[in-house]
Amino acid sequence: MSAVRRADGELWMEGVPLSAVAQRFGTPCYVYSRAAIEAGWRAFDDALAGTDHLVCYAVKANSNLAVLGTLARLGSGFDIVSGGELARVLAAGGRAERVIFSGVGKSEAEMRQGLAAGIKCFNVESEPELDRLDAVAASMGRRARVSLRVNPDVDARTHPYISTGLKGNKFGIPHDRAVAAYERAAGLAHLEVTGIDCHIGSQILDPAPLGEALERVMDLVATLAARGIRLAHVDVGGGLGIRYRESEAAPDVGAWCRQVAARLAGTGHAIVLEPGRSIVGNAGALLTRVEYLKTDKEKRFAVVDASMSELLRPALYEAWHEIVPVASPARESALYDVVGPVCESSDVLGFDRELALAPGDALAILSAGAYGMAMASNYNTRPRPCEVMIDGERAVEVRARESVASLFALERTLD
Ligand SMILES: *Cc1c(COP(=O)(O)O)cnc(C)c1O
Repeated sequence: MSAVRRADGELWMEGVPLSAVAQRFGTPCYVYSRAAIEAGWRAFDDALAGTDHLVCYAVKANSNLAVLGTLARLGSGFDIVSGGELARVLAAGGRAERVIFSGVGKSEAEMRQGLAAGIKCFNVESEPELDRLDAVAASMGRRARVSLRVNPDVDARTHPYISTGLKGNKFGIPHDRAVAAYERAAGLAHLEVTGIDCHIGSQILDPAPLGEALERVMDLVATLAARGIRLAHVDVGGGLGIRYRESEAAPDVGAWCRQVAARLAGTGHAIVLEPGRSIVGNAGALLTRVEYLKTDKEKRFAVVDASMSELLRPALYEAWHEIVPVASPARESALYDVVGPVCESSDVLGFDRELALAPGDALAILSAGAYGMAMASNYNTRPRPCEVMIDGERAVEVRARESVASLFALERTLD
């Protein structure tokens, strides 16, 4: 489930005890296992061995350069949603010809940046975007490779804030407009239609909607072929859920890849995937320390030094993360709400957790590798935490903790 294990009462990630990481780098602190990230990516790549495919890691899940660099060395592709993410991928050694550019609001500058770098493909999300991309490509004397993101109108049965494949949301081109949009794209001189994509949501635990979306996409592929529009690749998006708690079952990555490969066998279409969370989610943890135990209320609170500023998911989606002590002391446990110092009632990292705690204890919030640091903010003028990557017995600080001075360095007062 998670990249940590307990031995002799201590929590370990690879060959390093997490108590040593908390001691050396301070808390709060994100820590990632390089081996777990590599294993997460290989689960996709190995299952598709022998078929023409590209696993494009969704950068927004965790965009630290060390994470991107680790995956670039394996030969990963990247799914980006901004020009900033493109710059990160290139800085980390990723190859532009393995980058696909998703997102509903690409600016002209971002289109130019993608074309100049020579990315694999733009995942276009609307008809006006087709026109803009054609004009930008024309102004540069280039042709832009495009895939159209179709909205298959399938319910991913996940949290509404992370569901993207239903008619009522902003993503993609409606299924019933897709053929017309492809014909329009095929008629634009500076576009080259190369693919089709969909992405119906995130943290999907039930694999059935993924299969339904694939069928809807393959129907379109057949309709397009009948009209003379041949596609080079089919991109099935990301969205596979991970286990945040023992009671959850996550879809099997290998089984999903084999299902896609079987469905596309003999069609001549290459397979593209855009997994984010399923590669890095369980590879990371957020380390924190208990500041106070507040037991004078009806409930017991453990006030820790991490908060919704560092890990927003519980406050934003009522997400559940396992919280465990870094060392297991012999004391009595009690039920605590684990809360942060931020001035919001929603700043709760976990409700009703059975923990044996004393002030100063280090805790690990597990499965925090995806949408953790990537969504961290400076709310309450909190410097964002450092990030550490474990590689065997090495612990490397891959992002330094922010300084308070840097948080207001761009600001000024009036005379
Ligand atoms: C966020 C996103 C992904 C990755 O989603 P995960 O749930 O992290 O796998 C893939 N494709 C697109 C277009 C996205 O927006």
